[in-house]
Amino acid sequence: MTEYEPVIGLEMHAELMTNSKMFSKAKVVDSVEAPPNTAVSPLCLGMPGTLPVINQKAVEYALRVALALNCEINHHNIFARKNYFYPDLPKGYQISQYEQPLGVNGWLDIELESGETKRIGIRRVHMEEDTGKLTHQDDGTSLVDYNRAGVPLLEIVTEPDIRSGEEARAYAMKVRQILRYLGVNSGDMEKGVLRVEPNISIRPVGSTEFGTRTELKNLNSFRVLADGTAFEIARQTAVLQSGQKVIQETRGWHDTRRETFSQRTKEEAEDYRYFPEPDLPPLHLDDAWIEEVRAGLPELPDAKIARYMADYDLSDYDARVLSEERAVAEWFDTAVSAGGRPKLVANWMINELFRLMNEAKLSIEAIQVTPTALVELIGLVEKQTINNNTAKDVLAEMFASGTAPGKIVESKGLAQISDDAAIAAIIEQILDDNPEQLARYLAGQEKLRGWFVGQVMRQTKGKANPALVNQLLDTALTARQ
Ligand code: ADP
Ligand code: MG
Repeated sequence: MTEYEPVIGLEMHAELMTNSKMFSKAKVVDSVEAPPNTAVSPLCLGMPGTLPVINQKAVEYALRVALALNCEINHHNIFARKNYFYPDLPKGYQISQYEQPLGVNGWLDIELESGETKRIGIRRVHMEEDTGKLTHQDDGTSLVDYNRAGVPLLEIVTEPDIRSGEEARAYAMKVRQILRYLGVNSGDMEKGVLRVEPNISIRPVGSTEFGTRTELKNLNSFRVLADGTAFEIARQTAVLQSGQKVIQETRGWHDTRRETFSQRTKEEAEDYRYFPEPDLPPLHLDDAWIEEVRAGLPELPDAKIARYMADYDLSDYDARVLSEERAVAEWFDTAVSAGGRPKLVANWMINELFRLMNEAKLSIEAIQVTPTALVELIGLVEKQTINNNTAKDVLAEMFASGTAPGKIVESKGLAQISDDAAIAAIIEQILDDNPEQLARYLAGQEKLRGWFVGQVMRQTKGKANPALVNQLLDTALTARQ
């Protein structure tokens, strides 16, 4: 039987987190929480006589993304009318970009589970505006909310370079991560601010031509992206194997039936009659501004990972975990700038701090522990004022109350006992009090040595310097041989 391989291109739509809409002063509000139709202007309602004005902040945000995705930037941008009729689009057209989009010919490297890196070509990044939102009710009527109409929207389209559901997911997740790093989109897919649309076809392995594709519309989670793509690959394979042809069409995802279904076929596909938007002038971006925006880009995840591995000798895993979110990476960077040894800071963050954050369901922005406080805590361990286990308890206390580690150690009397004479006296006492265990140890039951260490720790409430306890216990036991 013929073997097929999938060919996938992704379109992603990302709302931009500006204060106002793409072409009007109407506010951008949370489209899930804000009461319907409270953030609309005559322009987003398509009233006659209104005129659009380009939102400079939206262009800047879009430019950040196009630059971060390694695109060539078009200096001369034109907006276009994409005409279609739908109740969530009161103007009867969407202002978008068609010819001469903001960015073209970009790329993004993704990491696969095998450890390999793969470069995905980015065909275009363009600016447009979002539509309103329809809610279909059980009685057959529909409600429309225009809060979202006119919200700045970015469309990011790849080349058909993706070859599996795993690659599609890795690419989409990385785009989301970069958008969040750039501070232009929250990545909150449940709220619909970021949507993914895979175009999927299959072809016989070894073929260089593309097969007929279907497009899955408006997927709003990575799980649905993976499941929908897998379903579509299997469905198309079955169609071809039964001797039929794949029909080019737009399909939706039915989440309870867990299958795709046909929405509209090519024959019915709209003719958008694109033409240059007559109400807007061409948008010219000069080099100075482009370079200013480029210079303002934050260090992106790949650069951070490379730097953490090269400069700090962190493992690939640790570098990735710390770079996952910009706020976490910057917390780590601040701790290192404050004098923390990178490897120790990384260990404390990954092993202890993240656990506390998970338990409390808090993001790093919301916690009371500061990077300098963690560095101070690590310093107390290095100076042997407290041992590692005590330090974990102290961190939990810092996390709960925001108190500085030095204060906690002082007020709770947690400082290690590093006084030779005091520890030696406790050891002598314990050996005297437990003649039976001592006899068994001396008769060869070496395991009891650990039991004696435990007794010393119990009496000192865990505060004895463990290295010292071991050393002094050896001396005491030898003396009683
Ligand atoms: P449109 O949806 O407007 O027709 P394009 O033709 O530019 O736009 O393609 C949209 C997306 O579909 C792109 O990501 C592109 O890489 C991808 N694509 C194009 N042809 C195929 C194909 N045969 N199989 C899979 N993906 C494809
Ligand atoms: Mg398309």
